[in-house]
Amino acid sequence: MAEKFNRPDGRELTELRETKAKVGVVPNADGSAMFQQGKTIAIAAVYGPKKMHPQHQQDPRTGQLRCEYNMLSFSVSDRIRPGRNRRAMEISEITKWALEPVLMLDKYPGQVVDVHINIIQADAGTRCAGINAAAMALAHAGIPMKEMVSSISIGKLDKTMVVDLTKEEEDYHEGEGPTDIPISMTPSGKVTHMQLDGKIGVKQLQEAVDMAKVACQNILEIQKKALKDFIEGDKK
Ligand code: UDP
Repeated sequence: MAEKFNRPDGRELTELRETKAKVGVVPNADGSAMFQQGKTIAIAAVYGPKKMHPQHQQDPRTGQLRCEYNMLSFSVSDRIRPGRNRRAMEISEITKWALEPVLMLDKYPGQVVDVHINIIQADAGTRCAGINAAAMALAHAGIPMKEMVSSISIGKLDKTMVVDLTKEEEDYHEGEGPTDIPISMTPSGKVTHMQLDGKIGVKQLQEAVDMAKVACQNILEIQKKALKDFIEGDKK
């Protein structure tokens, strides 16, 4: 019998870290949300739809989504140099790809919806937490969406598949080492984003997608509850 794989924080292989979500955390924004997974905390704020500036980027056929992901300098113990870098630019772009397929932006020709994601504390999975927060903030802003998007990182540590990697797990160095597969999905099972950092075979990649499907269903319930709690709180 295979030996049981022990995760550093004692979680089951398919167990999420403690997950919390809250809507309406930035009162001046048109929509906002916080998404926390363990020690990773993302805040998303949505502004718009509004007229696209610079004007030459306006598209008369449709509205556009602009995403900016930023990890704040105090979000990890080694201070990060503030400002744009290649990693932040890449994550901003993939966040846009993950969210765009569910947004009905054709209702806003010539306009833009800005999404600002700030990671205030980072312990891996920040791109997924940012996408989860942004999806809630877009719904809060009232941007018409075909469905929600939920995001999770699936990992392979040596040969064992696990859900929701911590930074300690991302740095695992035994056997085949770590593989990180962030996946974003809609409730109907459409994969809107998938990345792969490491090595994996086809069979285990399919297993990763199946694990993401279950994890994303759990995250969706947390996102929906946060939106419902906000609406009910507003009525009081
Ligand atoms: N990280 C860091 N400094 C950096 C970038 C990342 O300490 O400049 C840490 C941080 O905890 C982050 C983790 O490394 O969450 C994993 O980063 P990765 O690029 O894999 O993206 P993420 O898993 O956060 O989406």
